Order: sequence, then structure tokens, then C-alpha cells
Amino acid sequence: MKTRIKKGINGVFLFLAIMSFSSCKDQSHEAPQKPNIILFLVDDMGWQDTSLPFYHERTPFNDTYHTPNMERLAAQGMKFTQAYSHSVCSPTRVSLMSGMNAARHRVTNWTLRRNASNDRDHETLELPKWNMNGMQPTDSIENSVHVTPLAKILKDNGYFTIHSGKAHFGAIGTPGENPLNLGFDINIAGHAAGAPGSYQGLKNFSSGRQDRSSVWDVPGLEKYHGKDINLTEALTREAILALDSVAQINKPFFLYMSHYAVHGPIEEDTRFIQKYMDKGMDKTEAKYASMLESMDKSLGDLMDYVNNHGLADNTIILFTSDNGGLSAIARGGEPHTHNKPLSSGKGSAHEGGIREPMIVSWPGVVPDGSTTEEYLIIEDFFPTILEMAEVQEYNTIQKIDGLSFTSILKGEKTHSDERALIWHFPNSWGPTGPGIGASSTIRKGDWKLIYYHADQSFELFNIPNDIGESTNLADKEIEIKNELAKELGDYLRSVDAQMPIEKSTGNHVHWPDEVL
Ligand code: CA
Repeated sequence: MKTRIKKGINGVFLFLAIMSFSSCKDQSHEAPQKPNIILFLVDDMGWQDTSLPFYHERTPFNDTYHTPNMERLAAQGMKFTQAYSHSVCSPTRVSLMSGMNAARHRVTNWTLRRNASNDRDHETLELPKWNMNGMQPTDSIENSVHVTPLAKILKDNGYFTIHSGKAHFGAIGTPGENPLNLGFDINIAGHAAGAPGSYQGLKNFSSGRQDRSSVWDVPGLEKYHGKDINLTEALTREAILALDSVAQINKPFFLYMSHYAVHGPIEEDTRFIQKYMDKGMDKTEAKYASMLESMDKSLGDLMDYVNNHGLADNTIILFTSDNGGLSAIARGGEPHTHNKPLSSGKGSAHEGGIREPMIVSWPGVVPDGSTTEEYLIIEDFFPTILEMAEVQEYNTIQKIDGLSFTSILKGEKTHSDERALIWHFPNSWGPTGPGIGASSTIRKGDWKLIYYHADQSFELFNIPNDIGESTNLADKEIEIKNELAKELGDYLRSVDAQMPIEKSTGNHVHWPDEVL
């Protein structure tokens, strides 16, 4: 596919920006023609897991957690109150790096071992053979999606590309497990697994087990083994060392700062936990709060780095998370996060599973301290970042579903409420809870329709009126339900989306508009 995009940030601004750098900045980094881009992705962070409010009022969670650097980033950028990802890790990460919707790329559940689905057995459905080997830079791997990755396009257009942290793009034993095969110049600690054995350097970032669990051991980072350092801090220090190396080659950089935090195992960051214990918080919740503050310190350290090296005016920072906070289960019992006022959490089609904290700072373009309620979805980052990087034309193997959101950032009139967002999850994640189960979902304007594959039932919510998704209007707003089911069905058919098979009949589950 060939994509042509309109010119991004205008030339006059760039010229002035470059001239201003050359007069006063640290000469170790020559001002690049193109902006530097930091994509800061947190793992499993919920919409309310921050002291920065994303709801129209402060919640008790905003007063529980301490993320001052997110507040600082929001003060110099735009806060998105309706940013969406997919409900579990790999679908989001593949959409981010490919620009494709999950229904199209078919990496609909989380990946790990080659040709091994992580779906739990389903009582009534036979689940499809999804792309369980993930995203690949080649067409030679079975059960995978062959793509031209975002990092490769940036690299081919003059960027120095750095991967730090969690990759989780492709299964063990495939090229896609290694970010170096996906267009990154440097890979710090990324591999097939989507969680660390441990966050502790004293434990070598390993669970310490020699069995199949060793798959979670974080690769690389040996210089921190045996040291009293948190994984989040180690990844940040290594990312900064990589940024130092860019100064020697005079290229713009793309840093994908992809933290393992705040995914389980829930382990305290000893630097931050005491204040939460002093508040009388539950121990697991206090540990989680310390992991969030640890992640936030990383964001602050990177912001300090670009400030201290004269790069701030030419560096774009995008912040978001890959799925909602894990509220359905927690190791050892109680959930460690809640996402309220949203319903449910990770793995759910309800807002708690898919609505994410998101901030974008773009100096000279995005007004300081601005907020938007326009909605978007994770695959939109792909064309947006390429537009920010002033890549005028690019070729991809895959068809892109994402739409650039630079017009939102620039405050131009948009029509995003006329656009449909789609989720497709013909899978069985495991835990139970509201909105969890094999389903297809559409959001358009104020309305959201969820179609559950197991019993072919619907939930219809007016999201602004009912953000907690407590009142199902599927039997009352028939016309809206039918309209959305038709649009959802049309899209799923257009991408040949995979549907489960009903064990009782041996037939594929009907498209949503076939059961009205
Ligand atoms: Ca995740």
C-alpha cells in the first residue's frame, strides 16, 4: 500500500526552531531537521491510575496515586480523555506498530510460544486459529501477520530507532520476537514475553525458577544483575545511554520507551512505597502505587534529559497505555486497581478494559495544558507518528486502518464522532467479569454496541451519559442498535474477520447484523 500524507509541521517553524537551538543549546546534540519522538507506553495502566484526572472531576484514585511528571507533561501538551487501546497486550502492540485494526491483523489475543494459543477452552465455542505467532517482518512464518513495521519506516527515513523495555510482538523462535528485526537500531531488554520474571536487579529480573517460567526472565541488563535497582529505572538509564549515542551521529531519534511496568508481578519499588504504606493502604495496592510512581519518574527523567540537552523544543512526547488496569483478578486475591468510574478492566470490552490515559506534547504545535474529548484508537498512532516525522510517502505491505490525529493536536475541526472505532476479540482470555468474553464492539459518536459471540446478545450504551456502562439500552434503542450492528458487520466482513464456531451446530457465529 502506498500512503501519501500532507506536510506536517511547517517549514518556517522548523527553520526558526533550528536557528534558536544553534544559538543556545548544548552542542553535543546537533539540531536535527526532523523532530525527535518519544513514544512512552505503559503496560496495563488504567485510566484512573494517576494523579492526573482524565475524568471531568477528580476521583479518589487521583488523590491516591502520585504521578507528578504526567501532570507536568499534560501542562505542556494535550490530554486525551477518550483514547482507546485494545483490551489485552499483543493486539494493541501489533496495531501500534502496523496501523492495522485487530480484526484485520488477527493477533487478537496475547502471544508467547510458537503455534500455541493462550486462549482458555470455551464451553460452547470453538475459537478460531488466530495469528498466535504475532507480527512478523517476513511472510515465511505460519499463523502470523506480515507487516512493514513503524520503526522500519522511521529508520528508512533517517531516524535512529531505540527500543527499550517490553516488546511482545512475536512468538518465541520467530524473527518478530526480536525488535532488531522490526526496524529498531537498538534493543534494550525486549523479547517475546510480555512480563518480567521480577522487577528486582537483586533477583536478576528473573523469577529464579529454572522451569518453563524462565521464559519471563528479562534478557540483557546483565550489568544490573545483583544490584539494588528496579527494572523501570534500569530501562530508563539504558534508554538515556542510547540517547547519548545518538548525539554522536546527528540523527533524529525515535525512542519507544515501552515499560514492563505496571504489569504483574506486583512488586514494590522500594524508593516509593513508604508513603503509600503510611497512608494505610492495602499492601498490594501500595506496591502497585509505587510501581506507578516509578514509571512516572522514568517519564520525568526523559523529560529532564531532553530539557538539559537543548532538545525540548524539537522533541514530541506521546504517552499512553496498552490496555486497561487489571481489575478482574490479582495474584493472591484482591484486585489492585479498579478503573472506576469505568466498568471492569483488562480483558473487557467495557471502558475499563480499553480506555487509556493519553497525553501528547508537541512544542510549537499543541497548546500547553489543553484537553480534548475527541476519541481515537491505538492504530491511529502509526500514521500520526509518520506524519509527525514528516515522512511524506511510504509503502507498507499491510493496509492501514489508523487515521492520523494531528488535526486534533492542531485544534482543527474534526469529525471524529462520525467515525466508527472497532474492536474484535474472538478469544477466551480467562478471568470473568463485565464485558469479558469473545465479542465484537463498535463505538460511534456517543454510542457503543458490544456483540457477544457466545450467546449472540448485545449491550448498547450511551457512553457520555453512562460512562460506567450500567444501563443496557439494546432493547430500547432498537434503531441505533440495528444501525451499529450493520456497520460493525460490514466492517468485519470487509476484513474477513475470524469468528468462533458454535460447538452445538458446527456453524460460524453469525455476524452481528444477522441476529437482529
Ligand atoms: Ca498489557
